[in-house]
Amino acid sequence: MANALNTEQQAIAEAAAYTALGDQTGLKKALKNGLDNSVSVNAFKEILVQAYAYCGFPRSLNALSTLMQIVEERGNKDELGSEPSAKPEGDALIYGAENQTKLVGTEVKGKLFEFAPAIDEYLKAHLFGDIFARNNVDWKTRELATIAMLAVRDGVESQLNAHIEIGKHNGLTDDEIAEILDIATEAKAKNAVFGFGELNPYGKYFTGKSYLKPITTENGVPMYNVTFEPKCRNNWHIHHKGGQILLVTQGRGWYQEWGKPAQELHPGDVVNIPAETKHWHGAAKDSWFTHIAVEVPAEGGSNEWLEPVSDEEYNKLQ
Ligand code: MN
Repeated sequence: MANALNTEQQAIAEAAAYTALGDQTGLKKALKNGLDNSVSVNAFKEILVQAYAYCGFPRSLNALSTLMQIVEERGNKDELGSEPSAKPEGDALIYGAENQTKLVGTEVKGKLFEFAPAIDEYLKAHLFGDIFARNNVDWKTRELATIAMLAVRDGVESQLNAHIEIGKHNGLTDDEIAEILDIATEAKAKNAVFGFGELNPYGKYFTGKSYLKPITTENGVPMYNVTFEPKCRNNWHIHHKGGQILLVTQGRGWYQEWGKPAQELHPGDVVNIPAETKHWHGAAKDSWFTHIAVEVPAEGGSNEWLEPVSDEEYNKLQ
């Protein structure tokens, strides 16, 4: 992934993703990295406060507590940075609605807000009024953090897509957004329930980086957690005698059998790969991807690795 983001932006995206995941170990690393690369304490504080609107008070409180602890451990020597501006004069509902329109690029309305006017009021007066009026973090950076937070959460695709558009409207480029999604989905992959493991020892049969974590190898049905970085895929290959079962757990990816169209994969998908079938599997271009690979046991079973999936073939996939 090209470095479209600077180190401060990378640290903020990472901190936002780990906050939303509730992973204090990952968050600690991201915060230290950011503080070492001139993100101020108050900028981080602001992002972690804003986090509560997108992932709830508990995740926000835990993240702020981690930040407080790190700042103390480092001897309170980090740059504090600017304090947020005072609450503006006037009615938060009015200036919040103005902020929302400016941020989104158009007035936000719709049936849902007529159905539940309270949520419209809270979004306008509180999120875009109280929070977005605080000027020590700019809106582009706030959107960068929001995209990272939403990208690690399930069931918020429409909000993620909306914020990608809002991010663009506030100056984020396509390359910057791709890098935010890369950072966020990597953080999520590292939090996989069966672990992330090490760089794949079979990496020479893959295009791009992948990670392998043996789940169990002791009882005749070996299972591995396999994580692919965006664009990573394995070579065409054949499982001889025993086939393979893929259980998709995270991200977006692909499975393709020779001579057939590729099949898009999402969490919860199960792929039954028959023995003697030439195929490949891997990540989509814009997402880390994780599946569990179950090796179907068979007498004399083996894997035959063939040619890589060319960029030309792979790039046809959306
Ligand atoms: Mn396979």
